[in-house]
Parts: sequence; structure tokens; C-alpha cells
Amino acid sequence: MMKGKLEPSERLKFIEKVLNHSASGKNLKEALASFEEDLVKLSDELQQEAQSIPNMTHPDVPIGGEDSSAVRKKVGSPREFSFSVKDHLQLGKELDLFDFDAAAEVSGSKFYYLKNEAVLLEMALVNWTLSQVMQKGFTPLITPEIVRSSIVEKCGFQPRGDNTQAYSIEGSDQCLIGTAEIPVGGVHMDSILAETVLPLKYAAFSHCFRTEAGAAGLATRGLYRVHQFSKVEMFVLCRPDESDTYHEELITIEEDLFSSLGLHYKTLDMASEDLGAPAYRKFDVEAWMPGLGRYGEISSASNCTDYQSRRLGIRYRPAELAASTNPKKGGKGNLAPTKFVHTLNATACAVPRMMICLLENNQQEDGSVIIPEPLRPFMGGMEVILPKH
Ligand code: AMP
Repeated sequence: MMKGKLEPSERLKFIEKVLNHSASGKNLKEALASFEEDLVKLSDELQQEAQSIPNMTHPDVPIGGEDSSAVRKKVGSPREFSFSVKDHLQLGKELDLFDFDAAAEVSGSKFYYLKNEAVLLEMALVNWTLSQVMQKGFTPLITPEIVRSSIVEKCGFQPRGDNTQAYSIEGSDQCLIGTAEIPVGGVHMDSILAETVLPLKYAAFSHCFRTEAGAAGLATRGLYRVHQFSKVEMFVLCRPDESDTYHEELITIEEDLFSSLGLHYKTLDMASEDLGAPAYRKFDVEAWMPGLGRYGEISSASNCTDYQSRRLGIRYRPAELAASTNPKKGGKGNLAPTKFVHTLNATACAVPRMMICLLENNQQEDGSVIIPEPLRPFMGGMEVILPKH
């Protein structure tokens, strides 16, 4: 129940009292102040309640838990090895690519230092990915990595809720971002865009910070589930009638990127119970990880429809409505109706799991790892990572 200052019956009595009091200016002023106070409280409570309601689901979304997700596409097949396969941790040790022990001392478990070619590989993955998506019309961004908790909430996540993944900063209203989706979502907050600027397409590089609370028992070894990682995230703001089309475009871009790197993967239409609050529909890509001996999620593309834009206050003014309400034509000028944009987000490259795939799938019998051809120009022409001893 709403916890406003006055219950409805009391409120009526109060109004009667004010009216019976010959409505002197003072009484009216007091009444107004009290109602305004109530209104702010009730709006806050309504906002809180509304935040907890998830988005609608697309009619084609499979109903049920993760196992009900439908395979949309499968590309390639698991590589068959003629020698005994090493996982990325073993390869990293022999190639001197990571230091988890020092990171555990310095920062805690699930942190890591990247070393030697792993540093170049991360930079190459990020730069190559950005160069690819820029060719598709995405504007590159590097975002702030600390944001106000209210922005996280408006994007549909609960930074201080039970299922939190966010590191809150004590004594402030800020937290570390779990994904660049949050600061990019905030770029056009509380604004009315002209229809002509849509779609807006961003590709944002950021570090992501996740507490991974409750992740015990899942694949947690090595780079698979860490507290800090680098990611290039695509984000689109578009007209509502175009969001399904851009969702298809985003998943196609992801698939093209992963195919170019020679990965074997499958694309899934995620089931209703695996959508999270903001997504109306979500396509995940899972790639083959020989060290794990199974597929592991490497990316996620979500159509959030107007779930985030309503909370963030991102609208656009449809061109024909703006024209029909031109004051010169007898309309109401800047009172032309506005609509909420739709927002979509998709992983272009989440570095640690890409690194797992590339190291494990491209390992050779002599312990070396072949670098995929598209990344070589971004690594000074390097073709192979050789064992150090
Ligand atoms: P999400 O924003 O949760 O959809 O995650 C996007 C992608 O980031 C996932 O598909 C993973 O590839 C990667 N990812 C998510 N969480 C982690 C983590 N804790 N450690 C490493 N990679 C992660």
C-alpha cells in the first residue's frame, strides 16, 4: 500500500476542512504544500514499484528456463585434436600470459594480470572489433566507469538489490559499471531527439566490474568469470518499429565477428526465464571452449524496447507529427507529441572469453598458439605465440 502522508479518507476530510474554512489564501497555501509533499512521496514509491516490473516478452520467445532456449544457428563444429588438449590456464602458464597469483595477493581472487602477448591480444581484439563496427556506422566511445546508482536503476538493474552485480562506492551514490550499456544509456537521458538522428549507434569500450555474487559452482576457473574485464559493447537507439530489425542486425554483426576469428559457435533465442528485467528478447552466442569441453557464453544481444528509455526519459519527435504541428500551419509547435525510443545492446567483444576461445581452439601440438589472421595487423604482424621455455 502507498505510504503517503494522508489516507484517502483523511484526505477528503482535509479538503472539506479547507473548503469550509472560506478558502483563505493561507489555508489554500498550506493545503497545496501538504499535497505537493504527498505527491513527491507517492511518485517516489510508484517509481520504486515500477522499477521492479520486468519488460514484456516478444511473442516468439521460448517459454521456460535456460534449457528451453532455442538454437537459431550453428556455425562450424568442434575442432578435433590429435593431441591432448590444454586449457587456457595451462597454455597461459607455458606461454607466460597471465599472473593470477600476484593478482590474488594484490586485489583478491578472480583478478589477473595479463602479460606479454596476452596484453597485445587484448588490445588487438578491442582495436580490431572497434574498426569492424565503425565500418558498420557505429560511433566509438570510451565511457566513464563510475556512474550514479540511479542511472544503473534506470537501465533496469538494481545496484543495491538482492541480485546485485555492482560494486557500490561506500559513502557515495555511485557504483562501478558492470557494462558500458549503463553510461551509454545515460548519454541521451532526459532528452527529446529529432527522428532524423535515429538510429543512433554506439560502440563503447569500457572495463566492466562485477561482484559475481552467487556465481559459485558455475565455470569459474581462470578467465571465465572474473571481477574485472574489458568489453566493446554496441548500443542502438531507434524508432520502435525498427527495433526487431536492429536486433537482427546486431546478432548478425556479432556472428560475422566470431566467424572472422574462426570460432565454432551457436546462437540461441533465450528462454523467458533467462531474459533479466530489461530485455524483451535476447540472443546469446555460445562458443566451443575445448578446455571446458563445452560451449560457453561469449555474447548477448538484447532488444530492451522502451523499458530503459521510459526510465531514462529518452524520447523522439516523429517527423510527420512535428511537421503537422508546426505553428505556422496552425499546430502547437513544440507541444508536438513525442514517443519513447527503443534501446538495444549487444556484446561485440568481451575480451576474457574471447581469449579463452582463441588460445584453446588455436593451440598447436608444440605448445604454440596461432593468432587469427584478422588480428595480426593489430599485433605488429605477429602470427604465433611461442612457449617461453
Ligand atoms: P552480459 O552483459 O552479462 O550479457 O555479458 C556480456 C558478456 O560479457 C558475456 O557474454 C561474457 O562473454 C562476458 N562476461 C560476463 N560476465 C563476465 C565475467 N564475470 N567474467 C568474464 N566475462 C564475463
